[in-house]
Amino acid sequence: MLSGLPFPIRKLLRDADLELEAPATARIFTNRDLAFERIPVIGFDMDYTLALYRQAALETLSLECTVEKLLRRGYPAQLAKIGSDPEFAIRGLMVDKKYGNIVKMDRHGYVGRAYHGKRMLSRSERKSLYRTQRLGSEYERFAAVDTLFSLPEVNLYAEVVELIDQAPGLWAPQRAPSYGEAWNDVRECIDLSHQDGSIKDRIHADIGRYFAIDPELGPTLHKFRSAGKRLFLLTNSLYSYTDAVLSYVLSDQLANYESWHGYFDWIVVGAEKPRFFTGARLFQELDGAGATVGEPVAEPRRGRIYLGGNQAGLQRALGVAGDEVLYVGDHIYGDIVRSKKSSGWRTALVVDDLEHDLEVRRSRRLLLDEIEHLSQLQIRLTDEITGLRYLSRAVSKMTVEELVRGGAGKDAEGLLEEARAQVRQRVDRLRKYEEETAQTLARRIEEVDLSFNRYWGSVFAARKDVSRFGAQVDSYACIYTSRVTNFRFVSPVKYFHAPHGSLPHWQRG
Ligand code: IMP
Ligand code: MG
Repeated sequence: MLSGLPFPIRKLLRDADLELEAPATARIFTNRDLAFERIPVIGFDMDYTLALYRQAALETLSLECTVEKLLRRGYPAQLAKIGSDPEFAIRGLMVDKKYGNIVKMDRHGYVGRAYHGKRMLSRSERKSLYRTQRLGSEYERFAAVDTLFSLPEVNLYAEVVELIDQAPGLWAPQRAPSYGEAWNDVRECIDLSHQDGSIKDRIHADIGRYFAIDPELGPTLHKFRSAGKRLFLLTNSLYSYTDAVLSYVLSDQLANYESWHGYFDWIVVGAEKPRFFTGARLFQELDGAGATVGEPVAEPRRGRIYLGGNQAGLQRALGVAGDEVLYVGDHIYGDIVRSKKSSGWRTALVVDDLEHDLEVRRSRRLLLDEIEHLSQLQIRLTDEITGLRYLSRAVSKMTVEELVRGGAGKDAEGLLEEARAQVRQRVDRLRKYEEETAQTLARRIEEVDLSFNRYWGSVFAARKDVSRFGAQVDSYACIYTSRVTNFRFVSPVKYFHAPHGSLPHWQRG
């Protein structure tokens, strides 16, 4: 925006915070055009959006609390020895409860990689299970891994599947659970741990261990406010937890905010997203200590705190149109897909995996280019081999008599033999070349996948295509970035331009 202006003026404007140079990993990416100037209201989710967990510490805690409950249900004591495996579970995976598998799909629902417990399925095993499977439509059978909260349960489930296979006797005198029952047990136990205070009480007691502080959070929110935007908080967390967490991550950042409440014009806790977007629950006002005030109401008032509520009521209170609201969240379904489908709000997805993804794409640029080049080469070779095989069939059907009738001389037989040998040789040569190319390509893909994640490769990609998660980001997040504070680099009137869509037949040549 500033590039056309003389340097001293650019510097003055930069110093005034109008537009800053963002490092590459802090960029905001656009899927759908968005005029920030025409967004007077911005809403924020809390967990993993405003408040960033220290993932390893939270995973260890979630594992401990969940395993404790599983042991009480008769699960084997061996589970207590499980450590966290930070790379095994990533966002966007699906759990196949029927077979005890964890799968990663591309945007068409094709399963390109799968693990049974912690063992990777071979290509043939994968094909036999998922070849014709229309994944994602079988809601009962598959569970989506949509948020960072879900990662420990995927790790734990894989370990339980290993035990069911290797040592079912450990459940004696009961029988070992089926894969489906085991998933339900793990899910219920982690769900309970979130709700009965097992996890939250321990976070409360030692909050600095579980949250990272980003010193730019207060200034980023303040920058929005001083540009005239109104902000709201919309979180599923209940009030006492929200109060403790936001006090920790926002306290003392800016002198003109006495407490975290001052950053927000409306505060809604215990929202029960995604139901918040479609339901009709009333808003229950709370005081600063979390006690209820008066009767539930249909519309929240500015400057107050509410429990529950629904999107339509909040929308009326905001006093702007749906597409004048930007909602920033980390949950691809609860915050982004659902709000986009039901509310018409514009959406910004916070996806922390992006920092690592961008870093790998930068440092492995040459390798990624080589993969692209090898893929193109493989396509050309395959096409050529198919053509030659067709030719080879035609030549092998030819007879000497046909050649003679067509005008060949005495040596027709020799000519035919030579032609057949030539075609065979070319096919053999090209096949060998294609085989070598395929092997090199597979090795290079493996190499780059290791840099992204040794079990799954990139969160956003599935081999040469976009992953199911990547496709959801593309379809539902108007913009996406690795953390909320990246907005500090952006002018409040920025126009986010999306790359224009295209279809294959629009390409030239
Ligand atoms: P938000 O991201 O601010 O909307 O809220 C996330 C809240 O959901 C946190 O309070 C989490 O503890 C809670 N949460 C995450 N996973 C589960 C679950 O499996 N069951 C119940 N609550 C959960
Ligand atoms: Mg969240």
